[in-house]
Amino acid sequence: MDLGLADRTYLVTGGSSGVGLATVRALLDEGANVATCGRDADRLQRIGAHERLFTAPCDVRDAAAVREFTRRAAEEFGGDGVIDGLVNNAGQSRMKGFADSDAEDWRDELELKFAGVLHPLHAALPGLRESAAASVVNVNAVLAKQPEPRLITTSAARAGILNLSASLARELAPDGIRVNSVCLGLIDTGQWTRRHAAAACGLSYDDWQAELAADRGVALGRLGRADEVAYAILALLSPRASYITGTSIDVCGGVGRGIL
Ligand code: NDP
Repeated sequence: MDLGLADRTYLVTGGSSGVGLATVRALLDEGANVATCGRDADRLQRIGAHERLFTAPCDVRDAAAVREFTRRAAEEFGGDGVIDGLVNNAGQSRMKGFADSDAEDWRDELELKFAGVLHPLHAALPGLRESAAASVVNVNAVLAKQPEPRLITTSAARAGILNLSASLARELAPDGIRVNSVCLGLIDTGQWTRRHAAAACGLSYDDWQAELAADRGVALGRLGRADEVAYAILALLSPRASYITGTSIDVCGGVGRGIL
């Protein structure tokens, strides 16, 4: 099935690694124009060159930098300013419980999660309004619905973003802009390779992953792959999803224990 993404323009934040990188690659494979950012210019460089790809370093917490990134992306792709989709993906989680989290942890976590949606959306909104098939996908976590005490600041911030997504879906619907979320479980990306290295537990990465999946009650018994998330994101970006807004898709291998 043709997803109808070819020749359209998409912004993906945090495209130099993991889920963002898999999304960038999948969109390029579909013939779309893609602009992506991350803080580290060298990591962006390593994506490799592609005639439909624009990359620039940018921290999503910096509103002016995000506006400049968006302006340059529009210029790169012909200057008509149309943006067909935005994937708010940049971010990371904070592995801390309540007793270990100080005011700075709360402020930093809330800033990253909210700025990571609000700044790109503010910058892209005029371009999204010009599209006949505009779609915003917020990359979230099942933590938004099933909080974990060991990730207390991230869980609370994620719940707020899910709530925000529902409000945005209603406010932007009259402009023809759909807003949806993907809620991730455990996805095998840089986040987990870094944690495996930090754990220094003596287990191979595969054995460590299998233990992790069992500990977290993942029904499919393994971590997900970034490309498995990317295809859910592309499905929501596609104009074929024209009647889907204000909802979320869990990409979590069946970690949910309730009726979600
Ligand atoms: P990775 O660490 O593999 O990639 C994160 C990407 O975001 C990188 O490109 C990174 O580049 C970029 N990034 C991080 N902070 C910023 C910032 N302030 N401004 C701009 N870019 C930034 O992460 P994943 O692919 O695993 O995660 C993608 C999203 O999914 C994140 O929001 C994460 O929290 C969420 N998620 C992931 C889960 C998982 O199991 N992997 C589970 C639940 C949610 P750079 O460092 O150069 O800035």
